Amino acid sequence: MERFDVAVVGAGPAGSTAAYRLARAHARVLLVDKVVFPRDKPCGGGLTMRAVRQLPFPVEPVVEDRITRARCRLRYGSTVEHVSARVLCLMTQRRRLDAFLVEQAAAAGVEFRDGVHVDVEADTALRVDGARIEVEAVIGADGANGTTARSLGLGGAVVNGVALEGNLPYERLPGGQWKGTLVLELGTVPGGYGWIFPKGDHVNVGVGGWGSEGPHLRRHLRILCEHYGIELRELSNVRGHRLPMRRPGNVLARGRGLVVGDAAGALDPVSGDGIYEALVTARLAAEHTLALLAGEIVTLEAYQAAVQQELDPLASAGWAAKIALDRFPWAVFTVMRLPVTWHVIEKLMLGEVAHPGEARGAGRRALQVVEGLARLTRNPRTAAA
Ligand SMILES: Cc1cc2nc3c(=O)[nH]c(=O)nc-3n(C[C@H](O)[C@H](O)[C@H](O)COP(=O)(O)OP(=O)(O)OC[C@H]3O[C@@H](n4cnc5c(N)ncnc54)[C@H](O)[C@@H]3O)c2cc1C
Repeated sequence: MERFDVAVVGAGPAGSTAAYRLARAHARVLLVDKVVFPRDKPCGGGLTMRAVRQLPFPVEPVVEDRITRARCRLRYGSTVEHVSARVLCLMTQRRRLDAFLVEQAAAAGVEFRDGVHVDVEADTALRVDGARIEVEAVIGADGANGTTARSLGLGGAVVNGVALEGNLPYERLPGGQWKGTLVLELGTVPGGYGWIFPKGDHVNVGVGGWGSEGPHLRRHLRILCEHYGIELRELSNVRGHRLPMRRPGNVLARGRGLVVGDAAGALDPVSGDGIYEALVTARLAAEHTLALLAGEIVTLEAYQAAVQQELDPLASAGWAAKIALDRFPWAVFTVMRLPVTWHVIEKLMLGEVAHPGEARGAGRRALQVVEGLARLTRNPRTAAA
């Protein structure tokens, strides 16, 4: 029977960077994925600089654009444009990014097996294509539709959003500034927004919102396209995916098993971004698993508190902004137009402040208005399921 120190199930950004960090610390790591790589993943492919700071190595070879401009519009009416002196976000394609991350993990010594069927039996044993493998710990990194959390008795408290996206070559787009520009359409999809993100030879066009918007997403996407003179059928590769957002009772670790990234519901509620959270949870998971392998701790359960300490302030601010935008779009948009608010958003995207509560001055006060508005309405994060 084969033996490894750690099995990592799922080779998205969370799984491959956790595996990379473990292997660099000399652990014997098996990374498994049910899909053959390179594979795509429905995603805007926006890597905020906050996320880039969490990467254990540069990803320059797969960067297709650099964002310095954000154009935000409310209900296809009022527009505000902010230009930054610094790059706020890198644009990539997940097919390329994820394959690159896996390559780095394999180069660090990780044993990578793709296109395999995985059954997690316990936090110390799994079957890969039927063959039993024993491990000291299991990391569940199998995303929004994964099964590892359930197999390990984890999870249980997640609110699901949904998103739908597709691609369009630049030559099919009407004229205008697309390169280096993030386009956000606010107040159009309940619980979310529409976007246009620039890539090397195409743009990614998408919409996301509350899970209950699932049946209406195609219509939202069609309306977004119409506002840009695009026909929905011109988009290629249109596909949807879940956006899992954890609630306070979500269990992230038990015994020798834990979950990271979307499998942990770590996604940011207001932006729908989850790569930053995938990378943070992967780093914390690797640290705790290495401590377990070294005999410094006997379970991985302290990982849960570490994740909450690092991500909860940002997540609760994200929930507040999400529900305030949903309920009071004009008021929130008015706050967003202010240069002081943009200054804080810029710092958040750059990773210079960890969460809005760390901001100071007029920008902080502007965001407190949004938090105040959020308190006037029901919060699905803390409301009973
Ligand atoms: C439409 C859309 C747009 C988005 N845009 C952005 C964005 O621009 N920026 C951003 O930061 N975030 C974005 N997100 C969120 C982001 O895509 C996720 O948060 C991120 O992919 C989470 O990474 P992960 O490694 O946890 O999971 P994933 O990237 O989902 O990886 C999970 C892996 O597990 C594998 N797997 C699943 N089940 C099994 C199994 N049973 N056995 C073995 N392997 C399995 C899958 O094949 C996959 O490779 C978007 C999400 C959506 C849906």
